[in-house]
Amino acid sequence: MTIAQKLSFDVQLSDHARTAAEREQVLANPAFGQFFTDHMISIDYTEGQGWHDARLMPYGPLSLDPATSVFHYAQELFEGLKAYRQSGDSIVTFRPYANAARFNRSAARMAMPELPEDTFVEALELLVRTDREWVPTTEGHSLYLRPFMIATQPALGVNYPSRTYKFMVIASPSASYFTGGLKPVSVWLSTEYTRAAPGGTGFAKCGGNYAAAFVAQRQAVEQGCDQVVWLDAHEHRYVEEMGGMNLFFVYGDKLVTPALTGTLLPGITRDSILELAADLGLETEERLVSVDEWQEGCASGELTEVFACGTAAVVTPVGTVKGADRSWTVGDGTSGPVTMRVREELVGIQYGARPDAHHWVHKI
Ligand code: PMP
Repeated sequence: MTIAQKLSFDVQLSDHARTAAEREQVLANPAFGQFFTDHMISIDYTEGQGWHDARLMPYGPLSLDPATSVFHYAQELFEGLKAYRQSGDSIVTFRPYANAARFNRSAARMAMPELPEDTFVEALELLVRTDREWVPTTEGHSLYLRPFMIATQPALGVNYPSRTYKFMVIASPSASYFTGGLKPVSVWLSTEYTRAAPGGTGFAKCGGNYAAAFVAQRQAVEQGCDQVVWLDAHEHRYVEEMGGMNLFFVYGDKLVTPALTGTLLPGITRDSILELAADLGLETEERLVSVDEWQEGCASGELTEVFACGTAAVVTPVGTVKGADRSWTVGDGTSGPVTMRVREELVGIQYGARPDAHHWVHKI
């Protein structure tokens, strides 16, 4: 249900904002998702009344009743996108309306209220404008924006979704997602655990998907790998996605990516790369990709590169693959030319070094 109403934001500026020196100290080494800016956005929802009490306020803890339904039934969803500082000091976000649309698709699946797309984008703009000094100037760094929504009704009944919700946006300066920089990642094929099944919540960006993933990600690390790769729930035969990224398989001049079957997240980076491919003279195909095909393609040399893509890590090469009963190297295990071209094109658009032919850049 979308309630079309124009909200005006109440603005309450922090009286304990960090000094320029304190901010610079954080920006000098912004470990991903650990430091937050001085303000946040909060908008409340009440069934029958719609969205209300939109405000920008000082960043700080929430006080919630222990019975609040999000704590018990994980009725929660989130988004992730970045603000970039381009040359000339303008600040932009990348396809924020695509995040707004995905947020509402997630909301529908989680029986949560939709937020008007314009309000979603306005909330981002207000926070970034207020905390603009937190958008890093260092090349490759950005301000990560985390919109999210939680069910706030203090009630333990499970026969009806919450009648009240809170939408928030927080922001965190970020350097590179992987501490190893652009080093190829090693991946672990998860056959013991499954992320999503048909009819489930795989396509939605809800916290529960990530809660259920930690055990497999921990297993990946125990196996000496950086990231988990999820396979289909039924046979553990087809590749779905990584822990927080989609995957592309490079066959010479062709990019192949797993089809959106409903069990993987429709990444905005994935979608952008599918569109950019034509500009780069690359063909694309969305279909099922099996683990056998991946291994055999690498053995024959037909499959030349594999890369992962997502907002946080942009485009990252996959170097080695390990499963319970096999392991292999992609190409020579280093990052390949197609991966680098795709990455440079995308990063170039985001930071303003390349023309924005698709009108993806949204000025704040
Ligand atoms: N898959 C999963 C599971 C993710 O969490 C993400 C990050 N949002 C992605 C893929 C990539 O999506 P996007 O390109 O929109 O960041």
